[in-house]
Amino acid sequence: MLSSAQRARFIPDRRRAKLTARVQIFYTDHYVLPLPPGHRFPMAKYARLRERVEAAGLGSMHVPEAATREQLALAHDLDYVDRVHAGTLDAREQRELGFPWSPAMLERSLRSTGATISACRAALADGFAVNLAGGTHHAFAGRGEGYCVFNDSAVAARVMQAEGRVRRVVIIDCDVHQGNGTAAILANDPSIFTLSIHGANNFPFTKQVSDLDIHLPDGTGDAAYLAALHEGLTLALDRSRAELAIFLAGADPFAGDRLGRLELSKDGLARRDHLVLATCRDAGLPVALSMAGGYARELDDIVDIHLRTVETAAELAGLPGGHPGVVQARAPRP
Ligand SMILES: [Zn+2]
Repeated sequence: MLSSAQRARFIPDRRRAKLTARVQIFYTDHYVLPLPPGHRFPMAKYARLRERVEAAGLGSMHVPEAATREQLALAHDLDYVDRVHAGTLDAREQRELGFPWSPAMLERSLRSTGATISACRAALADGFAVNLAGGTHHAFAGRGEGYCVFNDSAVAARVMQAEGRVRRVVIIDCDVHQGNGTAAILANDPSIFTLSIHGANNFPFTKQVSDLDIHLPDGTGDAAYLAALHEGLTLALDRSRAELAIFLAGADPFAGDRLGRLELSKDGLARRDHLVLATCRDAGLPVALSMAGGYARELDDIVDIHLRTVETAAELAGLPGGHPGVVQARAPRP
């Protein structure tokens, strides 16, 4: 049987464009975390998003491996990793986390981090790849907070380095909340560049220092947001000299978000995704996407925004010429 790379050489150009439009997509929604009644975390968004992504045929669907203790220890204190495994977080730690500990909570956190690791490997092969969860950027080296147990972006970036796949990574965090855990974990690591564009008046109220922070006022809106992102992105790609990008495509800058404040429209968020992905693609930079936050009153609004993100990745991967990474990996020129 031919590998996909071998097969691509025998497929006419028009069909090859369609083939490359299929990105690898990692999902973990069947690992459900049990929550008390009335909890405001929208756990149901993950299953609905996976159903709609699957129905739209945007890529090949995969269940990731769980992140290992060794992988987690690349970005976390081993003591914290072991206490999460053993279920010995105290009441205060669980309150800060926002989730009660359970074996299912552990498994879900391990798989969600594993999904970003898998998406990074797939992005390096194909150009773009997606984790339908992840973006747990409030997790610090030794503690969790704000629904984030492990910091999937910091762990995955370090795993790619440890596997010798890349030397330099850029994390592009467009969730409306600052990537405080990511900034703190990677503060003294010049090989991983952290960009966070977020609401100045949003949680976390004590901000950490990223390599590049863009603090935006309440009610920023589409035009000012996109201008600031464009400027930041240019700077981050230039300064980071990265070989891989991890993009947190949070749905919470949306105007209908309960925690958002930035007042972006759905169209503005789609333009954000296009700006990040097209800029990286044009720079030859593979991108692993994660969904990060989303707390709109209507669950369907959150799912619509995430779905558009995955559609944009699939569309850009399939455009004539393809992603530079895709052209190299799947369609070598004679
Ligand atoms: Zn958020």
